[in-house]
Formats: sequence, structure tokens, C-alpha cells
Amino acid sequence: MSENKDPHVAHTSETTAATEEVKFVYDFTEGNKDLKDLLGGKGANLAEMTNLGLPVPPGFTITTEACKTYLDSGEEPAALRDEVSAHLDALEKKMGKKLGQADDPLLVSVRSGAKFSMPGMMDTVLNIGLSDKSVTGLAKQSGDDRFAWDSYRRLIQMFGKTVLGVDGDLFEDALEAAKKAKKVAVDTDLEAGDLKKLVTKFKKIVKTEAGRDFPQDPREQMDLAIRSVFESWNTDRAKLYRRQERIPHDLGTAVNVCSMVFGNLGPDSGTGVAFTRDPASGHQGVYGDYLQNAQGEDVVAGIRNTVPLADLEQIDKKSYDQLMQIMETLETHYKDLCDIEFTIERGQLWMLQTRVGKRTAGAAFRIATQLVDQGLIDEAEALQRVNGAQLAQLMFPRFDADSKVQQLGRGIAASPGAAVGKAVFDSYTAIKWSRSGEKVILIRRETNPDDLDGMIAAEGILTSRGGKTSHAAVVARGMGKTCVCGAEELEVDTKRRRLTAPGGIVVEEGDVVSIDGSTGKVYLGEVPVVPSPVVEYFEGRMHAGADDADELVAAVHRIMAYADRVRRLRVRANADNAEDALRARRFGAQGIGLCRTEHMFLGERREMVERLILADADDEREDALKELLPLQKQDFVELFEAMDGLPVTVRLLDPPLHEFLPDITELSVRVALAESRKDSNENDLRLLQAVHRLHEQNPMLGLRGVRLGLVIPGLFTMQVRAIAEAAAERKNAKGDPRAEIMIPLVGTVQELEIVREEAEQVIAEVIESTGVELKLALGTMIELPRAALTADQIAEAAEFFSFGTNDLTQTVWGFSRDDVEASFFTAYLEKGIFGVSPFETIDKDGVGKLVKDAVKAGRATRPDLKLGVCGEHGGDPESVHFFHEVGLDYVSCSPFRIPVARLEAGRAASHSVGSDHR
Ligand code: PEP
Ligand code: MG
Repeated sequence: MSENKDPHVAHTSETTAATEEVKFVYDFTEGNKDLKDLLGGKGANLAEMTNLGLPVPPGFTITTEACKTYLDSGEEPAALRDEVSAHLDALEKKMGKKLGQADDPLLVSVRSGAKFSMPGMMDTVLNIGLSDKSVTGLAKQSGDDRFAWDSYRRLIQMFGKTVLGVDGDLFEDALEAAKKAKKVAVDTDLEAGDLKKLVTKFKKIVKTEAGRDFPQDPREQMDLAIRSVFESWNTDRAKLYRRQERIPHDLGTAVNVCSMVFGNLGPDSGTGVAFTRDPASGHQGVYGDYLQNAQGEDVVAGIRNTVPLADLEQIDKKSYDQLMQIMETLETHYKDLCDIEFTIERGQLWMLQTRVGKRTAGAAFRIATQLVDQGLIDEAEALQRVNGAQLAQLMFPRFDADSKVQQLGRGIAASPGAAVGKAVFDSYTAIKWSRSGEKVILIRRETNPDDLDGMIAAEGILTSRGGKTSHAAVVARGMGKTCVCGAEELEVDTKRRRLTAPGGIVVEEGDVVSIDGSTGKVYLGEVPVVPSPVVEYFEGRMHAGADDADELVAAVHRIMAYADRVRRLRVRANADNAEDALRARRFGAQGIGLCRTEHMFLGERREMVERLILADADDEREDALKELLPLQKQDFVELFEAMDGLPVTVRLLDPPLHEFLPDITELSVRVALAESRKDSNENDLRLLQAVHRLHEQNPMLGLRGVRLGLVIPGLFTMQVRAIAEAAAERKNAKGDPRAEIMIPLVGTVQELEIVREEAEQVIAEVIESTGVELKLALGTMIELPRAALTADQIAEAAEFFSFGTNDLTQTVWGFSRDDVEASFFTAYLEKGIFGVSPFETIDKDGVGKLVKDAVKAGRATRPDLKLGVCGEHGGDPESVHFFHEVGLDYVSCSPFRIPVARLEAGRAASHSVGSDHR
């Protein structure tokens, strides 16, 4: 559900002028599930359940607008107090008692509830309305002294901690001391008298620590609690959580004031959680936990063991049957898996919360198709119920679920995958061991830019500190490496080269560990890895229609079919060889959007390239090119054959030539050593001179792309000839080659015109010499701001544009990717300057704006201009939606990301025709 979260915006608060008409408080009877922006998720759903006639304790919600006003100005909006009073009056009338009334008090809970769930991040205060006076009234009404005093001590404790900022340990210590004095182990064994004494003690703690008495006025309790919920939006942990989850900072939280119901009034009371179907598999059934004689926080605290929800049938059949009925109502109404919190007070069932429940990636696909089969949703809606990130997760190899494993601990699932290797505790060892063929897992407390080489060498990275935006997490995700970070229960001792897990298990350097970047789990020893069934399916090795077809695969197959049916964007692959091209085709690619030819200049051909670079005379250079020509041609023949009938965009050489020469330091040392031995090698000397000559301070902005084509005679024309001859050969073999020639790094139309003219001449020569009619489209990459800004002119000479958003992001931001990602991106992410790296998700406001404008300008010049993107963003879910919106014809991405791009292109298309998605 990321539709409203723009990761690139450092959100500033929009101040809404508090006019008289603004309504800040909504009774539960007034809201509905679609008002999440205003009432938060909890408030909107409580209102929805109220309107469905379900048993929700009466109450009201204070809007996120009120919170935003408070956070902006430091004061509650002027009208809030009166509105709260009016709603409280109405609530008191409904309940037949007043807040904090001495002989029979109405008690309320004050709970936070933002648009997006932020579990445990913000404040809640229960039992508001209890005081020295009303506690006796509650005791009398409930006929249970113990319950009343226990409720009062909980209020002072919670209020003291969250509202008055008293150190929570002081209350916990006092509670422990009371248990010790009484020689009991659990607080349920404390009696009314003990709890009464504890209340006195707690009040003293408040007085000493907060410098004020615990407020006896119930309205003051409520107002202070509401304010503290507002303020809890901006605690450090809440901010950090939002950054990690990409939740905008300017949403604010709503506050729910709800009449209290009690699950701790004896064995005929209790509290529980339930799911309408299994959030792990999607199967329907009775899933949940119940705890008798308990309040909500007891379940979380794990003081006593819960029982499976099914046991409630024996404990309280009436409530159980009613709950099952309500769960069915909710599923049918929300048309989705719901999770529920409920309380039973002396045999009366109350619904405290519901929401569309979180689920695993596999369950998301299964549930979406199950709901289609049940007739609850249509195919367009099913597409909105899954996303590309979930599909990507399903494609990683996974640890074999059947294997016997010993779990060492668990951290944050920072970058998915399953990695196995020997534990190493520094980058030097990681590199050394991996060079000798060992697989290693780099284990650090946290990583820093010095660890980069070690991270590259490792199979996976494990850290004991840092969250989803820590250096390790960001860099690992960027590299597609498995990473578990922030596994705090694991003690990492890099000096002694060991890790200690809970229970004293020690992992020494060299011991094998396995890490699961999709769950955050860390295991001792080698856990066997199995390929994902979803990849087996895309590879064509598993068939969705087979009798024994995996249920998940069948669901993925159906959803992919919906996506393919509705999407407008075509999906191509970035692939440089026949093997990748064939895989891409199996994965559904509709062509190649980027064939990077530099990979064809490496290996054994490097020597020829060296000769080309070192050539002093024209004939030397021509000889080198002549040698390269047939090899290049063969590369293209294979590629066109693999992609027969589909377009293949071949990019002429892009990187600076020195990338094909030896490393400057290594070569200098070699030459110096040879000189000292007096056996200098002439070739090495010439190479060294060339390396010096071609050395650039800033190669990314140097002699590369079209610039190479313009200054190295014959280089681009050799490549064009190879493409044309290969196409002719394929045609002669009755193939259907659809080659497109792409010129990289163009900044001005003049560059393109020159290269184009030369290319056309070569193509004409090939047509002439082979007698084969060829139609080769010529186009360019848009990778420089100037190219984007002059797209109208460039389109005069280009039949297609392919946005190279990797370079375009570098040049628009002035970032050198390799340098900045490892050095300061973590800091930028932590400071919220951007929510996600602009190399991962397109920066819509900056880079995206250039793309959008260039699309318009290019099409104005040439209405049939073909438009695509081949930067990494072509496979990024959120970016795919953007490219759909700006009207590109296709996205191109690495073969493994093709299914994700297909799915997201389908989601973008069905979303924009307006489906009833959440
Ligand atoms: C790009 O710049 O987006 C691109 C695809 O080119 P490369 O990544 O090869 O520089
Ligand atoms: Mg580029």
C-alpha cells in the first residue's frame, strides 16, 4: 500500500488553516473505512464496524488534522476543547454515566491511530477516569476490589510513563518489590490490599519524578493523554520507523477515545486476536489466540500462555459463535483478510479493532486468487492486492523448509536471499578467503565504506547493529546481496573474531552460518538451499496447469495472466548474450531494450582492443578493427537468433577506453620492476603511456559514449557493420532480425547527426554488398540533462529514445554513483533527505520531470517516436508506474526483474482505469 508514499519528498507539513467549519472530532457513528487520512486506520475501521452494527464500544476519534495543527503550532486547535466536550457529553449520555463519576465511573482508553499502522510506535493510555474517588466506585460496581485497584495502578503506571515522561523502570521495580514482599511470582497473585499500597507508591513516584501530583480530574487526564498521543508522532523511534517504512512524516496521527471494556473481570472475560484466514498460507480457518481473564497488554507481555482461538468454543460458545459470524461479515465486507482484536467482558463480546491484515508474499498471491474465485473481487482488484516486491521475494532461492536447522538469532530482513558461508569478521579476510574459492558471510557490528570490497566478496552480510537504512542494508540491497542487519541478540566481537548467540553458542571464524535475508533469521551450519518454485515456473520447468501444480505457482500464473492482459507498457530485457536473451524470453521479455556491447570487448578480445587503442597509424587501427568485426558479427547473429522476431536494441560502445587497459598501478609496478631487471617490455611501456594519456580525473564525464565514436575513427562504423551484416545473415537464414542501433551519451543533435550519417552509409554498403533489404532503426539514449532539454531537436535525428536513467540520475544530481552510494547515502537516508536511493526508484520531481518533458518534446517533433527506459529503474515497481504514467512504450530491465516489471505494468494500467483498490 505505497500509493501515497512518495519516497523522494522530504515531507514538509502542510498547514491547514483551522477555519470554523473544520470538524476535528468524529463519533464512531460518523466515520467510515475510507476516511483513513483523517481518522487514521484504527478510527476509520472502528467507525466502519460501528456502522455495520457490530459490537464496538462507543467512542469518538480526534482527527489527524487536529494533530497536525498541534504539531505545527504547539497548541491544540481552538475549537478542539469544545468539540471534545460535546462528544464526551454524548458518550456519557449513551453510557449512562460520567467520565470518572465517583460511584460508577465511565472509563475510556486514549489510543493513537495513524493512517498506516505503526505497531507499538506511539502512545496508548487505558483506564482514564480513575481517581482516588472513582476507584472505590469501580470496585463497588464491578464487585471486585482487586480489579479496581489493579486498573488504577495500571493507569498511574501508563500515564506516568507515557504522558508525564517518568522512567517506566521505576514502576516496574516497585511492582517487582511488591511481588517479592508478598513472595509471589506473578502480579495476578497480588491482592487488593497490595495493589492499593502499590497505588500509593506509584503516586509518590509520579510526584517525585514529574514534580506534580497524578491528576485527579478525569478530564485533565484525558486532555493530557490526547496531547501526549499527538506528541508521540514525533518521537525518535516513530520517526525512524516511518523512514524505514517510507511513511511520510506529515500525516500526523488520529486519537481514538473509546469507552473501556474489561477482559480482566474473571474467567468469563478475556481478550484475543484473530485472523479471518491464515496470513501465512491464505487458507480459511480459525486462526488466532485467546487469553482468559486478561487485558490487551497481558497478551503482548506474554505473562501467561494464550490458547488457540478454537478453544474459545469450549470456554464461551456463545461469544465464539458470534465472533465467527462477525469474522465472516468482515471478510465479506472488506473483501480481504482482516485481523481483529476483541475482548469479552463477562460473556459480552466487543470488537476493539480490525484492519486488512498483513500477510506473507505467498499468501498475498493465493488470497487474491481465492477471493476472485469466491466472487468477492474481480481480476483488476486482484492485481492491486499483490505487488512486485512480493513477487521478487518469491523468486529468491530459499532455505529448504524441511531441513533441520539451529537458529542462532534474528535481525532485520534487510536484503532478501538465502546465503551460506564461513563466518569472517573483517573485509580483508572476506576478500582473501573468497579469492581462494571459499564462500563467506561477512559479519560486522556495522559496516562502513571501508567494508565495501569485503561486502562484494561475501555471499551475504550480517550485522548486529543498524536498521533497514544502515550502511550494510543500503549497500547490500544496491548490490542485490543477501543481508540481515541489526541482529542485536548476537554479540559480535571482531577483535576475537567470534559471535556469541543467546544461550552462549559461539561461532568462531570459519564456522559455517546461513542467513535468510527474507526473514532476518540466522542459522548455525549449512542450511540447504532450493530454487524458488516461482522461478521454476517462469523457467518453464514447472507448469501451472499440471495436476500436482503448486498452489502458489497456480496463483502467480493467474495473476501474471491478468497483468499481461491489461498492461500497456511492453517489457524488454537488458541482455548482452544469447543465454540471457533466452532466459529473458522465457520470463516474458518482448525484446532487448539494451545490449551493452562493452562486454563483447573483454576476455580474449581485450588484446585486440589494446591494439586498437595503441595504434599510431590508420592501418594498424584498421587491422585491429578488422579482427574485431567477425567476432562482433557472430555475437549479434546469436543474439538476433535468440530474440528472433523481437526488437533488439544494440548500444554502440559506451565506456571510456581505459577501462579496457590494465590498472595504472599494477602496470606501473610491472614496468618499474622490469626496468630494475633491465628487461623492459616495449608493449608494456607503450601501454603505460596510453594509460597515462587516457587517464581521466572523472571518467564518468570524460571520453565515452558518442564522444568515442566521434574521435576513434572506424570504431562505431565497425560495430554498425557487424550489426548490419549479422542482420543480413539472419535474414538469409530465414530469420526475422529486428535490430535497432543506439548511440549512447548524446548531448546535442549534432553529435547524433554525424554518427547517423556514417551509420547510414555503412548500412547502405551492407545492403549493396549482401543484396539483403535491411531496415535498422537508429536512435539514442537520453542520459544527459542537455539531451533531455533539447529532446525536440534530438528527435529530428532519432527514431527512438531510450532513457538511460542511471546516467541521467548521476548527471542530474551531480552524483557519481559508485562514490556516493557507499559514502554518504546512509546519512542522507537517515536524515530523510530522500526515503529511497534515487538510483533505486526514479526521482519523479527531478529526473522524472526531465523524462516527462523530453517525452512530450520528442513526440512533438516526431509523433511515432518510440520511447523506452533501460536504466535500472525499468525493473523497479514504483518507477514502472511512473513510466506508465508519462506514456513510455516499454521498460527494459535485467532478465530476473522482467516478471516484476510485467506485473507492475499491469497494476499501473488497471490502477489508472480506476479500480476499487485499497
Ligand atoms: C543508463 O545510464 O541508464 C544506462 C542504461 O547505461 P549504463 O548503465 O550502461 O551506463
Ligand atoms: Mg549510461
